[in-house]
Amino acid sequence: MTPPEAADVDVAIVGYGPVGEVLANLLGAAGLSVAVFEREAGVYHAPRAGHIDGEVMRIVQTLGLAVEVEAITVPWKGMRFVNAAGDMLVERPGPTAPGPQGWLDDLYFHQPDLEQCLRRGVERFSNVAVYLRHDVFAIDESPQSVTLRVEDLANGELREVQARYVVGCDGARSLVRRLIGTRQYDFGLHQPWLVLDLIRTRPVALPEYTTQFCDPARPMTYIHPRGDRLRWEIMVMPGDDQARMTRPEVFWPLVSRWVGPQDAQLERAVIYTFHSLVAETWRRGRLIIAGDAAHQMPPFLGQGLCAGARDAFNLGWKLARVVRGDSPPSLLDTYGPERKAHVGAVIELAVRLGAVIQTTDREVAARRDRSFATEGPEQVPQVRTLPIGAGIHDGPVPAGTLFPQPHLVDGRLLDDAVGYRFAVIGEQSLLDRAGADVRDAWRRLDATVISAEGAEIQAWLARLDAQAVIIRPDRFVAGTAKTVSDLGALALRLAQAVGCPA
Ligand SMILES: Cc1cc2nc3c(=O)[nH]c(=O)nc-3n(C[C@H](O)[C@H](O)[C@H](O)COP(=O)(O)OP(=O)(O)OC[C@H]3O[C@@H](n4cnc5c(N)ncnc54)[C@H](O)[C@@H]3O)c2cc1C
Repeated sequence: MTPPEAADVDVAIVGYGPVGEVLANLLGAAGLSVAVFEREAGVYHAPRAGHIDGEVMRIVQTLGLAVEVEAITVPWKGMRFVNAAGDMLVERPGPTAPGPQGWLDDLYFHQPDLEQCLRRGVERFSNVAVYLRHDVFAIDESPQSVTLRVEDLANGELREVQARYVVGCDGARSLVRRLIGTRQYDFGLHQPWLVLDLIRTRPVALPEYTTQFCDPARPMTYIHPRGDRLRWEIMVMPGDDQARMTRPEVFWPLVSRWVGPQDAQLERAVIYTFHSLVAETWRRGRLIIAGDAAHQMPPFLGQGLCAGARDAFNLGWKLARVVRGDSPPSLLDTYGPERKAHVGAVIELAVRLGAVIQTTDREVAARRDRSFATEGPEQVPQVRTLPIGAGIHDGPVPAGTLFPQPHLVDGRLLDDAVGYRFAVIGEQSLLDRAGADVRDAWRRLDATVISAEGAEIQAWLARLDAQAVIIRPDRFVAGTAKTVSDLGALALRLAQAVGCPA
């Protein structure tokens, strides 16, 4: 006999950085009881991430926070790669109009501002309790539940909380990852960089676009995230004294070509070692990891936070289904393999880009400059085209890839019409012919049915060579169909894969 579930909350989230914040919003909206534990008193004040992509904007749109988040972003102004002589090797222009996600493909922002928006979003949900200055120091798992041992750092009081599932959104040094006991796959890049965040105090003419200074003597990146905020990421070279690099007498001369203390004040100077790692196991029993706890990558593509938001978006609907009893716990087994393949491909891209920027060998750098000048840069796939790993999708690509977000004939963006649910999208004449068993499969998937009217959505279906598509709550294509019988068979197979009770 299965022992009864005993739990204070459905889900405990350890760590309230951006990934814990996205997940708390998703689970809050799904009506789960959630406790979030964060050892710090407030949002981490210093900037880290400066870039998000259109897919993350789609995620915040689903959280109902797009207006607030868009207000704290600016369009990315593009990127130039220049060599040691200052010659431009490559230019990547910034977006000027919304892309396939329905949003600009690249946006700049200040991470603490984004986190404030996400935390205000969580305040909408009385079923989510946030405990700041609470450190989770031990977790015991039983077949029925998980017991977290937590210290209230304000007074040293200890308490125990029971949860059905624990999600470690607890960053690179994750306790939950250590308790899962997973190995991490190493992509081989571990490089210290000095990150210098400055605030401009008087007008200084500086470009809006990001610049990669591919100088083998000292690779650097210049970023203008927003307003008067300026960032230089400066590679630590062999022979540099890391302990001294954050001192004013060392870092100002490194940026004196552009600014000095008369132009800008220091917000922070810190050495980060950029790693490239992905955990092999993302779930063991009732313990799950997401975000930096599950993967770390160098920031050359600006994708670490984006990848963590995708983890939460993939996990949120699965956890909600399992906790509500709409699907068996085995649905959670698909989370790690799906996300690991995707984020692994992103890390590989970031490492490849890093190799271009971080070259310190003059010969190699000269060859790179010549080939950029004659052949252009190596073509790399866009992150939004990468497929997820094996899991809840059926058939070859486009199954497992991100579905775009067209406008519907009534002017709404697709995701606003769908919600955080499956969607069946097809020609009305085809949808009308679906039989009772197929409609029952749609119901079991809890799918929104959308008639593919209007030029935009029809153009996307044509590109996928499909008459109908089923997309998952996280907007990845679950499968496509050309006929009503294909669509019926697909829906039935998906309902079975998701484990929906008949
Ligand atoms: C220089 C730099 C530039 C970057 N640029 C970009 C970019 O442009 N775009 C992008 O997408 N990403 C970027 N990133 C990466 C991005 O900042 C991280 O991927 C993101 O912050 C990870 O979020 P997280 O929620 O997983 O972890 P974190 O933000 O690390 O949050 C984890 C939280 O868990 C808490 N915690 C840990 N253990 C416990 C415990 N036992 N009990 C209670 N609380 C606990 C911590 O206090 C922390 O608040 C950059 C990073 C750096 C360093």
